[in-house]
Amino acid sequence: MCDKEQLSKKETIALRTKHIGPSCKLFFWSDPVKIIQAKGCYMYDEEGKRYLDCINNVCHVGHCHPHVVSAATKQMAVLNTNSRFLHDSLVLYAERLTATFPPKLNVCFFVNSGSEANDLAIRIAQAHTGNKDIITLDHAYHGHVISLIDISPYKFNHPGGEGQRDWVHVAPVPDSYRGKYTDKEYTTEELAEKYADDVKIFCEKANRQGGGVCAFFAESMQSCGGQIVYPPGYLRRVYKHVRAAGGVCVADEVQVGFGRVGSHLWAFQLQGDDIVPDIVTLGKPMGNGHPVSAVITTREIAESFGATGMEYFNTFGGNPVSAAIANAVMDVIENEKLMENATNVGNYLKEEFNKLKNKHVIIGDVRGHGMFLGVDLVKNRETREPATAEAAYVNKRLKEKFILLSNDGPYHNVLKFKSPLVFSVDDADELIQKLDEVLCEMEESENVIANIGKATQLTIGHAQSEMNGGANSIPLQV
Ligand code: PMP
Repeated sequence: MCDKEQLSKKETIALRTKHIGPSCKLFFWSDPVKIIQAKGCYMYDEEGKRYLDCINNVCHVGHCHPHVVSAATKQMAVLNTNSRFLHDSLVLYAERLTATFPPKLNVCFFVNSGSEANDLAIRIAQAHTGNKDIITLDHAYHGHVISLIDISPYKFNHPGGEGQRDWVHVAPVPDSYRGKYTDKEYTTEELAEKYADDVKIFCEKANRQGGGVCAFFAESMQSCGGQIVYPPGYLRRVYKHVRAAGGVCVADEVQVGFGRVGSHLWAFQLQGDDIVPDIVTLGKPMGNGHPVSAVITTREIAESFGATGMEYFNTFGGNPVSAAIANAVMDVIENEKLMENATNVGNYLKEEFNKLKNKHVIIGDVRGHGMFLGVDLVKNRETREPATAEAAYVNKRLKEKFILLSNDGPYHNVLKFKSPLVFSVDDADELIQKLDEVLCEMEESENVIANIGKATQLTIGHAQSEMNGGANSIPLQV
């Protein structure tokens, strides 16, 4: 047993099986990874083996970054309390954070998770518009609380889900590779128009049915749907339709925010400088692993929420330790020029993935921005049929080669890259080399292909089960 372990791996698994709810899933269920230490982009297991972390969109500025650790421990030793007292770092952070948004977005609410942020965003949108209906995108995931399962097709359309509520409208995700309209038939501009027109139809339906349009709720690039980049002009058109129908536009930046896309701090900015959501929700990377999240909105919308008369109180939201950590994360993003790194290394990786695409026919599409990239595996480039079992195999083999990467998308066939932003060119080379090895191995070995052939007969749930936790598995959002 390693000196940092209290239990052997076997004991950890036994105790987990006994005391942790069975619906709490692990990666790689048949041989889960036990991590006991991490630094930068590397995670170390109980035997000291080093894994390259391409999965962690939470430890954004690198695992255990000394500046963040020091800010947390210093503040913890001085004061941590609930949020009903005046505290400087909270307001200084609010000033600093809102300065990164278009000027209208200048009011914050601090919470503890992406789910809390999105649930609060719904309440605020309802209070402001007086309307009920929400337009969401197919395959979206917005959080684990009841209100968000209701607007997350990724959940309500899967085992355990209760299906679609009558106040929820599911617009097709603007996926130009495998969506309702594709780049095989339409130009980029036509794609933006057609997908946005579908949202317009739901706006009309919501107003006809009587619920009225409360909000268009979407990530600025869709993560769980398989790293989807929307056609340019899509959000501009959608926002116009939604506002004309009386609704507000919510941008979920829980996964894609804080500079992950490299060129901009917020992913909605990729769609143009004039794109200004009414409400933005933040989470995961904000505290580099510490639970702190936020809702950002306009003064006018915040006043409507205040006018309901109901106080908003959140015990831990934005407490002094959370605020110190969130400030430290921002310091590191700025001081270490991590957005620049996300652009440079992200572009390099994309080029290298594209080189692999030239070599391996299984790669159908490479997409994304900065360190939010997707590699779409297909059985046939023409039909774009998803290579689900193959993706599960690649994932498993990469793990055996100490690379942690996840699969996502409705067919679980998209290799999803979203490492901490400190990922280097050397790390990229390691990933590419090992991915190349696995793809060569798949092509060369008849045995592997035969086994994949058998696996392809299984359901998607089974094929993905190694990643997610067994047969009949439900999707695993990370
Ligand atoms: N929105 C998105 C886009 C997410 O990916 C997630 C988490 N996977 C959430 C919201 C919910 O965040 P949390 O798990 O912190 O509640």
